[in-house]
Amino acid sequence: MAEPGFTLVDSHCHIDMPEFDGDREEVVARARAAGLVEMLVVGGVDESGGHRRALEVAASFGLPATAGVHPHEARIADERVYGELRRLAREGRIVAIGEIGLDFHYDHSPRAAQREAFRRQVRLAREVGLPIVVHTREADGETAEILEQEGASETGGVIHCFTGGLELARRAIGLGFLISFSGIVAFPKADVIQQVAGEVPEDRLLIETDAPYLAPPPHRGKRNEPAFVVDVARKVAALRGTSREAVADLARRNYARLFRRTI
Ligand SMILES: [Zn+2]
Ligand SMILES: [Zn+2]
Repeated sequence: MAEPGFTLVDSHCHIDMPEFDGDREEVVARARAAGLVEMLVVGGVDESGGHRRALEVAASFGLPATAGVHPHEARIADERVYGELRRLAREGRIVAIGEIGLDFHYDHSPRAAQREAFRRQVRLAREVGLPIVVHTREADGETAEILEQEGASETGGVIHCFTGGLELARRAIGLGFLISFSGIVAFPKADVIQQVAGEVPEDRLLIETDAPYLAPPPHRGKRNEPAFVVDVARKVAALRGTSREAVADLARRNYARLFRRTI
């Protein structure tokens, strides 16, 4: 249970997903009891309109949401989809465009389609004046290149669930981006990610769960949930030689600045 004053955020979760259909209210209640003042619900545009469900779930709990075409779904991106994102942004219903990016690990969509959807959505974010949430896996060089070429320093954003190398961290920071760490930072063989988490400047640090995926130790292998962001904060604090409260506080302030939230 949280001590008074210990407040934190989960900068990236998917509590709209069916994994939470049976106990969503309890999950959010546990998060609040653990000290979470806000969770960002990341909505993925897919063939069944998954982002609309994410927006509804977020609104039902008074939480902010994002929408974007994930690289896995890049093949479905078309003018109609971009038009919908533009409309949601203009109506003030989303706080960021995302998650968008490149995933060359799974390659669920052809790489050409991933690149195109990523570029188009960075441009769209610039047009509507929103930050971006970037998902990148095994595509460090091309991700940095696209962000640089498309002027992403203008939108700002976050590299979520950071699993990249030092060079990606350096280039993202150069663009003014934040770096967000998930439970992966506490997994074995995460040496480079741990190094980045230890060294990232204070004003660039974020933490997240990416629930229901990637539960941090000691919950590994179970369904992840926003309350477990406390365990991510503890691990990042150990790597930085500071307290869990200090990391939580930094992350909360950086989150509020990036997504323009008053919390
Ligand atoms: Zn992701
Ligand atoms: Zn995600």
